[in-house]
Amino acid sequence: MSEVTGRPSGPRSDPEAVPFFSQAATFKVLWPLIEERVNEVFAAGKFSHGRQVAAWEQELAACTGARFAVGVNSGTDALMLLLRACGLQRGEGVLVPAYSFVATASAVVLAGGRPEFVDIDPVTYAMDAACLESAVTHASRFVLPAHLFHQMADMAALGAVASRCGLTLVEDSAEGIGMRQNGRHAGLHGKGGVLSFFPSKTLGALGDAGAVLTDDPEVAGIIRALRHHGRLGPTLGDFSAISTETDVPGFNSKMDDIQAAVLSAKLTRLDADIERRAELAAAYTERLRGVPGITRLPRVVPRPTDAGVSTAVFYVYLIEADDRDRLVEHLTGRGVGTEVYYPTPLHLQPCFADLGHTRGDFPRAEAASARALALPLYPDLEPHQVDLVCDAIREFYTGKPT
Ligand SMILES: *Cc1c(COP(=O)(O)O)cnc(C)c1O
Repeated sequence: MSEVTGRPSGPRSDPEAVPFFSQAATFKVLWPLIEERVNEVFAAGKFSHGRQVAAWEQELAACTGARFAVGVNSGTDALMLLLRACGLQRGEGVLVPAYSFVATASAVVLAGGRPEFVDIDPVTYAMDAACLESAVTHASRFVLPAHLFHQMADMAALGAVASRCGLTLVEDSAEGIGMRQNGRHAGLHGKGGVLSFFPSKTLGALGDAGAVLTDDPEVAGIIRALRHHGRLGPTLGDFSAISTETDVPGFNSKMDDIQAAVLSAKLTRLDADIERRAELAAAYTERLRGVPGITRLPRVVPRPTDAGVSTAVFYVYLIEADDRDRLVEHLTGRGVGTEVYYPTPLHLQPCFADLGHTRGDFPRAEAASARALALPLYPDLEPHQVDLVCDAIREFYTGKPT
């Protein structure tokens, strides 16, 4: 270890070679447009819940095909508000995948519900429909699949189980901007879904932000009230009409106008960014195919309803690898940043210990947590950096420097 940086040292150690995430180059190019839009916020003088947020909601609805897009402060609050707006009652069961970001299940608890875990499909990493069917209990009211990494869950199969069992379907589509299935954007296959604009997401703000997508006017209306202290009534940006009466106890989950301005500027690049991510992902797959020790590369499962149209968006490039933790150390020593998505399956998280699960309950989720590794993937990444990452991985498994 280097005493100065705390990183493993070695002759080829370069801590800056390939960061796990960076958007410095993107921001350099986009800065004039961001500056113009942010200046409009200063001119309007409203920094929260104002006209830029209202304009952003229109743009997001147009881009996703949602009837309503409701801007909020984060993907996590979007999930919690969506479950409440869809009528989740205290103690009711919400079926969630055992493998996801922790917020998928904590939002259920924050909304008053009880998470009921379901094992995953090992190829898509999303909730498996057969496992869902056998996990349904008398308390189950909702099913909340998450679309992870690069493709959506099998919504036709999950939707069929949900309607057979009388469950309301909502989606954790926090990672899903741009993903589609059967011609519909992620989040629009049930009662509603969410998006996260956390900086490292496919469409990232300069801080936290999120949204709910829904075609249901009642759900949209309740979320509009709940995000703003429970106040029904005035439209966004219309401050003269703000009601001082509170109809239901609500939250403060409003969105900042500066984030709306940044997102509106970044949206102009979304299609190009998605294309760039796909090219980089294809380059990884080409270079990593056949490397011993790598036991799974991402695969896009074709859906009959999609008629050959690509519906994937590479938010994360996730591999499964033997001896993963030592591979991470090796890559760190070569200046390559990686992240383990997700290191602890949800049923083994200490915050859900009261649900009484033990190791072995969801073997596919546990296997993914033990083997999965996300490699750097973002529009700023250069092809020679992909080569460097792949060379370092090959070197680890073959023992040969390249
Ligand atoms: C990012 C993410 C969230 C939470 O979004 P925030 O905006 O960070 O609150 C929820 N679920 C999944 C699957 C995510 O990837």
